[in-house]
Amino acid sequence: MKYYSLNKKAPNVTFDEAVIRGIAPDKGLYFPEEIPKLPTTFWDTIEELSKEEIACMAMKPFVGDTIDDDSLKEIVTDVLSFDFPIVEMEDQVATLELFHGPTMAFKDVGARFMARCLGHFLEQRNQTEEVTVLVATSGDTGGAVARGFYKVLGIKVVILYPSGKVSDIQEKQLTTLGENITAFEVDGTFDDCQAMVKQAFLDKDITDIRQLTSANSINVARWLPQLLYYLFAYKELKKKGKPLVFSVPSGNFGNICAGMMAHRMGMPVQQFVAAVNSNTTIPRFMQSGVYAPTETVPTISNAMDVSDPSNFVRVLRLFENNLGTLSRKLTSYSYCDNATRATVRDIYENYQYIVDPHGAVGYLGLMDYLKDHPDAYGVFLETAHPVKFLPVIEPIVGKYQELPDQVKNLVNKGGITQKIANYDELKGYFTLLNPS
Ligand SMILES: *Cc1c(COP(=O)(O)O)cnc(C)c1O
Repeated sequence: MKYYSLNKKAPNVTFDEAVIRGIAPDKGLYFPEEIPKLPTTFWDTIEELSKEEIACMAMKPFVGDTIDDDSLKEIVTDVLSFDFPIVEMEDQVATLELFHGPTMAFKDVGARFMARCLGHFLEQRNQTEEVTVLVATSGDTGGAVARGFYKVLGIKVVILYPSGKVSDIQEKQLTTLGENITAFEVDGTFDDCQAMVKQAFLDKDITDIRQLTSANSINVARWLPQLLYYLFAYKELKKKGKPLVFSVPSGNFGNICAGMMAHRMGMPVQQFVAAVNSNTTIPRFMQSGVYAPTETVPTISNAMDVSDPSNFVRVLRLFENNLGTLSRKLTSYSYCDNATRATVRDIYENYQYIVDPHGAVGYLGLMDYLKDHPDAYGVFLETAHPVKFLPVIEPIVGKYQELPDQVKNLVNKGGITQKIANYDELKGYFTLLNPS
């Protein structure tokens, strides 16, 4: 299996090279040359397979022979060492909880998978030169990446996050590790952070002296393993015998795009719902066919504050860049913060279940879709633990009595961060302060 650049002006590469580079030299996103179909026996027997077996079979075609079977098994076993429970709210509505990893964000799986793959490739190559993972975060990416790569040999991690726009716990998750992890607090928005990352990748003064790679979901090793969530859900829900609908709270559209990949690999799904906040580029696009990002709007579901979602080109590619074909599998709705807050309250009152603001947006999308499709079985993805958003959650559901272990020890820790205001300061860090 090889990967080509969606800009089509770069050579095709194997999985390991796509992971090390992150983005193609022509600045295109890598995309698999073909979409592997999993065999009928896989779908027929999925309920008997362990999550590690599912993961090995599903990821093997993507990694090809860049990772031997034993190492792949070791990697996925390590990456998937926590639960992915389905919690049923009522008859045909459930949530898939993706927050049981070390940073309580669904991004843990992608970040851990990428870290272990990259570690594996560097070891194989006996690489003595350091690789720098440069990443922008709107909230959860940074924490998951920092934890995933913490103390991985040969890798340095640099994280950019928008000042004042991530939650306290999210900020601590980025800034308290130290060691090979450096966090920069950027005076700007997430889109500003992402723009700086893109500029650094294009900057020869930096790339001549440092091997940079990205750990945003543009990296195939972060993007693709997310398809496993959908397979795990299918394994549990197949017996219901109903058409499945997934509602995915979406920002950069990596998660939902991975779900769509699982579908193209043979998994039956009736519809995907991309639920977004007040950053409405995609629902507007689905209506009009015009892709017109606007300024990013800050919301209480901050990890989805993205107006120009980088993975949407992959979504389009999965459907031959045909809006008609795409709309038969993708519906997109947007919700404002008031609706999100009201939903956190409703779900708490009706089910004594606490959703985080992102999950609440997902739930709203699911409800809107199910109104017209009462026969479907709906799953909304709960992408982060609500405890990471206390200022939103506590006024609605009251004070948390007991914090989960993952955050307990963060609360009193002081973080280390460096403030930067513009690209030149970031460049200075790479070229002046830390010459390699
Ligand atoms: C990153 C994130 C999202 C958005 O996921 P994408 O793959 O970027 O669409 C949603 N919810 C939470 C909690 C996140 O951290």
